[in-house]
Order: sequence, then C-alpha cells, then structure tokens
Amino acid sequence: MFNKKSVDIAVLGAGPVGLTAAHILADQGMDFTLLERAAGTHTHSYALALHPDTLELLDTLGIVAPILQRALRLQRSTIFDPSNKQRAVIDYGALPVKYPFLAVIAQSDLEDILVATLAKKGHTPQWNHRVRCIEPSAEGVRFTVDHLMEGSTGYAIAHSEQEIDKIYEYQSNYMIAADGYESMARKAANIGFPEIKSSLDYAVFEFETNTRLLTEMRMMVDNDKTHIYWPLGKGRCRFSFQMPPNFAQKHSFNKDHAMVDNEAQESSELSNAHLDHLLHTHAPWFIGSSSDVKWRVMVHFEKHLADSFGNGRVWLAGDAAHMAAPAGILSMNVGMLEGADLAEKLSIDSNEDGRQFRLNAYNLDRVTEWRRLLDIDQNIQGQGNTAEWLLRHRNNIIGNIPASGNSYQAILEQLQLHESIAVS
Ligand SMILES: Cc1cc2nc3c(=O)[nH]c(=O)nc-3n(C[C@H](O)[C@H](O)[C@H](O)COP(=O)(O)OP(=O)(O)OC[C@H]3O[C@@H](n4cnc5c(N)ncnc54)[C@H](O)[C@@H]3O)c2cc1C
Repeated sequence: MFNKKSVDIAVLGAGPVGLTAAHILADQGMDFTLLERAAGTHTHSYALALHPDTLELLDTLGIVAPILQRALRLQRSTIFDPSNKQRAVIDYGALPVKYPFLAVIAQSDLEDILVATLAKKGHTPQWNHRVRCIEPSAEGVRFTVDHLMEGSTGYAIAHSEQEIDKIYEYQSNYMIAADGYESMARKAANIGFPEIKSSLDYAVFEFETNTRLLTEMRMMVDNDKTHIYWPLGKGRCRFSFQMPPNFAQKHSFNKDHAMVDNEAQESSELSNAHLDHLLHTHAPWFIGSSSDVKWRVMVHFEKHLADSFGNGRVWLAGDAAHMAAPAGILSMNVGMLEGADLAEKLSIDSNEDGRQFRLNAYNLDRVTEWRRLLDIDQNIQGQGNTAEWLLRHRNNIIGNIPASGNSYQAILEQLQLHESIAVS
C-alpha cells in the first residue's frame, strides 16, 4: 500500500550541503522535507575545514558558535617544494573578513552540529528514507521513497540487512539535489557530469603524535603530485599522500565508504612502514612519532563538473554537481554556499516565473564560479617569482587553494596571481 505525500521543496541528501539548504528553508518557514537514506550522519571526518566565507554563512544561520567551539583555527596555509623550501604563504589573518582563518572540524562533527541546530528550528532529517524513481515534469517532481528498517535474515550465517518498511509516493514542486557524487536526481534530470581532469589517488593517514604540531595547513608539491598536511588538534594530524594514478578504485555505495577502496585498506601502501617512508620523503620537516595511526584509507578523487546546475524542477548543489581535488576542500565549502543560495532563491516567493528566473541566474553564477575556481579557461596569470613557480605547478595548485567566495580573489593577490579577463 502506498502513502501519498506532497511538499513544496524536497531536499535529497542530509550531507553538509543538504543540511545547510534545510537550515535556510527552516529559517524562511518553507514547506520542505529532507530525505536521507542513511540512518544518521557520517561517522568519519572526510572534508575537514571550513573557509572564511562558509563561516560567514554559518554565522547568518546562527550556528557559527558551536562550530568554532569545536574547531581548530588556522591562520595560514603554506606551499613547499621538494627541496623543502617554502614557496608561498596564504595569510588568512590579512583578509578583510569577519572570520580570518580556516576552521578545522571533522565533517562528522560539522554534520552533527548542523543536525542538532536544525532540530532547534523544528526540523529533523528523515533518516532511513531512500529516494528512487525520480520523474521530473513541467509541473513538478514525482518520486518514490522507501522507508528502510534493519532486518535480520540468513540461514548458515546470520546477518542483518535493510528491509523496506513502507513506501511513499511523493510529489514536490522542486527538488534540491544534494545527494552526492553519484546523484540519482542529476541522472533523472538528464544533466551530464563529465570528467574535467584526471582523477587523483591518495593514501590518507590520521595519527596521534608526540611532537608539537605545526598550526598551519601545508601542501608539499613534488612534480605532478601534491601531498597535504592538516593539524587536527589534540595531538592529531592528517597526512594525505598522492599516489600513482588508478591506485584506488571506488566501488562501494555505502555512505561511510563512498570513494574508498576497501581492498586497498589491507595493502602495504597503508602500512606503518610505508607511512614512515612517505613522511621521510615528502615531509622531512615532520619529526614526531607516527605509529599511533587512528585512520588509514585509500581515496580516489575524481574531478567532474555538471553541464548545468539544474534542469526544470531539479537543482543541484555540492558533490552532486562537482568533485574537486582534496586540499582546497572546495566541493563541500562551495557546495554549502550553493545549498544556501538555492534555498534562498526558492524561498523569496513561490511565483513560478520568479523562481525559474532566479534559478537560471543560479545556474549562470555557479557555472561561472566553478570555471574560475578550476581555472578552466586558463585565465590565471602571474607576476613575480612566487607566481612564476606556482604557474609552473598550475595543475598542483589550481583547485587546491582552500578558499572560495569573496576571499578567493584576495588570496590570489597574496600569491601574486590575478585573473586576466573576467569570465562571462
Ligand atoms: C574517504 C573520504 C575522504 C574525503 N576527503 C576529502 C578531503 O580531504 N577534502 C575534500 O574536500 N573532500 C573530501 N571528501 C569529499 C567530501 O566528503 C564531500 O565533498 C562532501 O561530503 C560533499 O557533501 P555533500 O553534502 O555534497 O554530499 P554527501 O556528503 O555525499 O551527502 C550526500 C547524501 O545524500 C544521501 N543520498 C544519496 N542518494 C540518496 C538517495 N537516493 N536517497 C536518499 N539519500 C541519498 C547520501 O547518503 C549522503 O548522506 C572525502 C570523501 C570521502 C568519502
């Protein structure tokens, strides 16, 4: 038996982007539902830092305080060459912004705060609600939702799996698709998601160490590879070492393992001995202990950009629309700004012509921004020694700069880089 439901706006996916969109819709008193197939938030820290512009957005949502309570503040990022020479500094402290730093916070903690503060606004994600059969039309979007519950099955080896408890037939006027990189909504809306650059494979290690940690984010650029260091607080840090192409393969569809190669977890590339070798080779400045590894994983980062950020009644934000290199934490940060922008554009009024007009503007703005962030038209040029070296390592730097929005331009200037012509 099907239950029929209708809603003005369906938000698909309760990752950081869907949760941010839900905050705006809650603040505006809109009729919406937030559907998530998983039973709760992510349990690991994947993307791990918020840009100054994202912090300003979270301030407007009234939720920056609990985030800053848990976050480590970084005033600068540095870029080093293989001879261990510092090539460039990004000084967040010099930016004319309200939050002049990067806030390092585990994605899982960020999502927990977004959920807890959303609850205070009277909304909870509909956990265990899996969306399928999305059918957009000129009038709206019809889709099916399975309400999942844990079931127990099996003869010889008992195991538990999810069973469908109830099925709902939904009709919404609009769908905000924040359903991640394999977005079902994007496919239903017939939006292409071409690969724009080659994928990158990383061996990621988080460990506790006995030395005082550097309080900056650092990129170690070595030929075609970019290795990354993040301090995490409480004596913990993350090193992400770029590996040869096609090292990791994504094949899992599970929320907490998406993009992760499970077989590679057992491989010698993730051993303590290999970690020591990588530290010695790429981060000779690091002198602490590294044996207390808390998390190790191979991750396959693809680089994609949607042909369009929406079509008719289905509009994309976050990983559903783009995937970028890891150091800049771009996809999540820019995605949260997109989720908020999209929700605002749908909330101003519910006049159809007005909504379509604003949504078309959203598409233009987003496509333009991503072409800039990834320098697809190669408009970034430079002056001076820093810029010359950075431009020679263009593929390592572009897309890896941890900044977006208004701060991005100021940071390019710090690096002696500028955009030669405005992108139309
Ligand atoms: C191991 C790992 C390491 C990472 N490291 C980094 C990093 O160092 N730097 C970086 O920038 N990024 C990193 N990322 C990527 C980062 O996590 C994403 O950019 C971020 O999660 C994007 O947020 P989102 O809300 O757009 O999508 P997601 O967080 O993917 O959220 C999408 C949500 O939609 C739900 N969903 C999907 N389909 C359906 C459906 N049919 N019905 C209901 N719900 C659905 C999913 O369960 C999920 O909760 C990493 C990712 C992984 C997996």
